[in-house]
Amino acid sequence: MTPTHTTDGRASRVLVLNSGSSSVKYQLLDMRDRSRLATGLVERIGEETSRLVHTPSAGGGAPRERTGRIADHEQALKAAAEELAADGLGLDSPELAAIGHRVVHGGLRFSEPTVITDEVLQEIERLVPVAPLHNPANITGIRTAQALRPDLPQVAVFDTAFHTTMPEHAARYAIDVETADAHRIRRYGFHGTSHAYVSRRTAELLGRPVADVNVIVLHLGNGASASAVAGGRCVETSMGLTPLEGLVMGTRSGDVDPAVTFHLKRVAGMSVDEIDDLLNKRSGLVGLCGDNDMREIRRRVEEGDERAALAFDVYVHRLKKYIGAYSAVLGRVDAVVFTAGVGENSAPVREAAIAGLEGFGLAVDPDRNAVRSGEPRLISPDDARVAVAVVPTDEELEIAGQTFALVHN
Ligand code: ADP
Repeated sequence: MTPTHTTDGRASRVLVLNSGSSSVKYQLLDMRDRSRLATGLVERIGEETSRLVHTPSAGGGAPRERTGRIADHEQALKAAAEELAADGLGLDSPELAAIGHRVVHGGLRFSEPTVITDEVLQEIERLVPVAPLHNPANITGIRTAQALRPDLPQVAVFDTAFHTTMPEHAARYAIDVETADAHRIRRYGFHGTSHAYVSRRTAELLGRPVADVNVIVLHLGNGASASAVAGGRCVETSMGLTPLEGLVMGTRSGDVDPAVTFHLKRVAGMSVDEIDDLLNKRSGLVGLCGDNDMREIRRRVEEGDERAALAFDVYVHRLKKYIGAYSAVLGRVDAVVFTAGVGENSAPVREAAIAGLEGFGLAVDPDRNAVRSGEPRLISPDDARVAVAVVPTDEELEIAGQTFALVHN
């Protein structure tokens, strides 16, 4: 049997939990070799059609599925715990060192991963008004995990933390300071765990110390954000008070003139909730062409579909604007890096986003760009002034690593 403790005899496993409003994603990692022991997803919590898919990674076991109503997060986590126990990886195991929770909004207070105390949980609760969709689900996940293992350290890893280094002139909106401060209105940024991981991995790929490297990270998943990272510190990012600002996303508009919202209220007679729904759920790629999956959009573009082509062009144009803006913010760029579902998989998006940026020292080698791989890789030509790279993100590994480092300090 393989040893399950670190060389100093301490427990080495970390359970990572990502609790959404109707879903829980979990991964159990062994931090001795950063291997994944099991992964799982519970979705449609509270509906009749709930589903749990559990994949035991060790030994390559086949995924197991449970269907039928899972009433709430507590039941979801209990079901996940049962699946883990069936693989000999129960949450009651002394080998479990900690549980790491993804928490979306940490406001200004949390710039580091934090052991969750009652006071920390209260502060996460105080941030609900600025993250009404996300923090309540994260809190539910934390409370449920605490009830299951009250003795175990639980750590919050915040999506906003990496961006707390943004200078004030990047974080401030140019609105009345008293009003902004009274309501904690400023740019916080999200996807920070991914931007941190990917910018660090990029420095490794370039074979240079993080402190010497300036990177533009393009995290293009269903949600999407860009960041400018100078010497390992975030200096600018595209999401703001909420994840709505910035790039064109699967269902979110990204940047719009804020007057669009008054116009929709005054002229179109829409309520605030309807406008919220429109900009967050019915805009972006889905609003432009009816699809938010880049594979489907590319298939339609190849068939000559004009709405899909327009959606693709709007998406890519926004990316180019941010690459240009962040080049100016950084002054010197060493690498532009693509990550997440679209960034890692869509060669046409990467090619189109970089096309025409030769003046910035940016180019993509078509053969390198066409390679499909799960490994970090360069896609720029050897003689390029600025590297262009694809670096797969791994938010769970980053959360587990930060959690483990904190509890073993
Ligand atoms: P999330 O923000 O939900 O974590 P992901 O990072 O998993 O999202 O990205 C999901 C998106 O990635 C999908 O909506 C799809 O547009 C895109 N995607 C996934 N695989 C491919 C692929 N092979 N080619 C192009 N796009 C892809």
